[in-house]
Amino acid sequence: MPEMKKKTVHIKDPEKVEKIICGLIRGGASKLQIITDFDMTLTKFSYNGRRCPTCHNIIDNCKLITEECREKLHKLKEKYYAIEIDPHLTIAEKYPYMVEWYNKSHTLLVSQRLQKDKLAEAVRESDVMLKDGYEVFFEKLHESNIPVFIFSAGIGDILEEVIQQAGVYHSNVKVVSNFMDFDENGIMIGFKGDLIHVYNKNDSALKNTCYFNQLKNNSNIILLGDSLGDLSMADGVSNVEHILKIGFLNDKVEESLEKYMKSYDIVLVRDETLDVANALLKKIL
Ligand code: C5P
Ligand code: MG
Repeated sequence: MPEMKKKTVHIKDPEKVEKIICGLIRGGASKLQIITDFDMTLTKFSYNGRRCPTCHNIIDNCKLITEECREKLHKLKEKYYAIEIDPHLTIAEKYPYMVEWYNKSHTLLVSQRLQKDKLAEAVRESDVMLKDGYEVFFEKLHESNIPVFIFSAGIGDILEEVIQQAGVYHSNVKVVSNFMDFDENGIMIGFKGDLIHVYNKNDSALKNTCYFNQLKNNSNIILLGDSLGDLSMADGVSNVEHILKIGFLNDKVEESLEKYMKSYDIVLVRDETLDVANALLKKIL
């Protein structure tokens, strides 16, 4: 596979990866399922040297938010994003800070009385971009009816709007994320259900065993993520035969590469494409 020879591709144990890929190919379409993160995994981290927004940032930067609130959200992001990606802290150490970040930023969002029917425009006017090759990725998976579980600590309403506007929200795609709650006038009053943040995806994964139980025969998994917290996204799957974990490493590359290579089977450094995933799908489907 020439895509595996790209400069962005880093593999600690090529033999193990080859074995997993052979297992995925043998299993074919009927055994496959995709479990993927959203922000900075399916979307670009940067474009032309500029950072691209997460679901949260689409709201942070939009015209529905007052300048004062935007400044507060940016200050929070500066402090807590640094903690999120700090290579010297453990997940356990980061965890309470992530809860703090989400609570503070979500409280600020509620204070803005966001209107549900303005969100589509906010997404349209944003700089969000899906990674290159997303059309092929979603088309191929739809064509073969492969279950795609998008598991995001972002904002579900925004995420759905992004994939809807891109024309790839097909029937085989299921989104689990933080969904906004609105009052009868369509004003945002909070978030539904339990919070999903960057480092509690294991808990949320277990809450979705119902979904995974329906997919008992889909025992081969391609997992895509960009955070070490994304590695637990498949924890709700009981019958894993082969799992290939692909991790996008976008930030603090030099400091984090070793840890990523220990945890992810394939690490893609500053790769703004879905080339590797698409090459695999071409072989499997
Ligand atoms: O889809 P994913 O699980 O990657 O979404 C989580 C991302 O949202 C995190 O990487 C985090 O940096 C970002 N985030 C944000 N603003 C917040 C909370 C999280 O940009 N207030
Ligand atoms: Mg992410």
